[in-house]
Amino acid sequence: MTRREEIIRELELRSRSIDELARLFQCTRREVVEDLKHVQRTLRARGRRLCVLPPVCRSCGEAINIKKPKNIKRCPKCRSSHVAPARFVVKSG
Ligand SMILES: [Zn+2]
Repeated sequence: MTRREEIIRELELRSRSIDELARLFQCTRREVVEDLKHVQRTLRARGRRLCVLPPVCRSCGEAINIKKPKNIKRCPKCRSSHVAPARFVVKSG
């Protein structure tokens, strides 16, 4: 099984952040982001989707809207670096 298929399988079971996936699959965050972009397209073709639970700023509470998988370092609103990372999960339909 390819790493991307393994990521899909993992995200069917539970939500994971980019950091967690990088640790789990022993690869870089950059690779995980690339994989997630692919996974997003693969799932769409299968009639499923990669659901993105947005990063949330721990300082001001702002949920940061992201369209593509990426790592957010700072809150765009208050510039705080206390940001709970985005989590990804596979949903059917
Ligand atoms: Zn903030």
